[in-house]
Amino acid sequence: MFFPSPSKVWLDGELLPWEKAKVHVMLHGLHYGTSVFEGIRFYRAPEGKAIFRLREHVERFFFSMGVLRMPTKWSKEEIEKAIVEVVRSCPADEGYIRPIAFYGEHLGLLPKGEAHVAIASWAWPAYMGKEEIRLQTVSIRRISPAISVPKAKIGGHYVNSLLASFSVDRSKFDDALMLDTEGYVAEAPVANVFAVKGDEVIAAESDSILPGITRETLLVLAEELGLRAKREKMKREDLFKADEVFICGTAVEVCAVVGIDDRVIGSGKIGSITRQLREAYLKEVRGQGKHREWLTFV
Ligand code: PMP
Repeated sequence: MFFPSPSKVWLDGELLPWEKAKVHVMLHGLHYGTSVFEGIRFYRAPEGKAIFRLREHVERFFFSMGVLRMPTKWSKEEIEKAIVEVVRSCPADEGYIRPIAFYGEHLGLLPKGEAHVAIASWAWPAYMGKEEIRLQTVSIRRISPAISVPKAKIGGHYVNSLLASFSVDRSKFDDALMLDTEGYVAEAPVANVFAVKGDEVIAAESDSILPGITRETLLVLAEELGLRAKREKMKREDLFKADEVFICGTAVEVCAVVGIDDRVIGSGKIGSITRQLREAYLKEVRGQGKHREWLTFV
């Protein structure tokens, strides 16, 4: 099976065996992309399993549900507790957690009734599988605030990310670089983009991105490393001229971008600041940093 070390699945308040967590083909969420979800990771800390920035992920989950006007009887605290229960049931000591809310069995564009909520977890190593990657700028642009609500993590939005991924020439590149509709750097299909110039660590800013929790974490860690952290709109040329470029996200963690299109970025190898940030991040998630408030022990 694709999902190694599967957990139990929490579905609408019940903890079910993985293979019993089934839904109907006539779901509104399936037909119209009306689901919202989160991607969270848990890591092995000295004290046991720890979920990284659970509160912030649940906050964004409820924000996304609000955008799709999903009524739910669950509070944020109840969903947090359910996530902890699911992770506890997962045989792996490090892995990924996927909470999802979706509209149920009803067709016609306007949904009816409460949203279903499910939470599952399994062992999922870092998404790219390597620490240095090459990006290809693709012609598909990232959805803009004129099209949808890019800040919400809505299932349907991932068609945009997928079309961008499909157009990557996989013989030369690992992932897509998406621009926004104004031509500024937006993001990779499931990760945010950063540039490093001297001692400045710059998060690519755009109204079209999903502002990642990893991105916010790295901005804090950069300041703590004595660097200057900021958010700025950037053009593709700014990335070409940068000393270092990297992408980040819960699934991806921190991954150096050593080439974009026909250009080599920096030295063509992972840069020292990217490496420091990556190490600082991996220390925090595993409970060896100073931000204990970012961890929820299971
Ligand atoms: N952008 C998109 C489109 C994403 O799907 C993700 C992954 N959730 C990110 C950015 C990074 O967000 P985070 O750091 O919160 O995982």
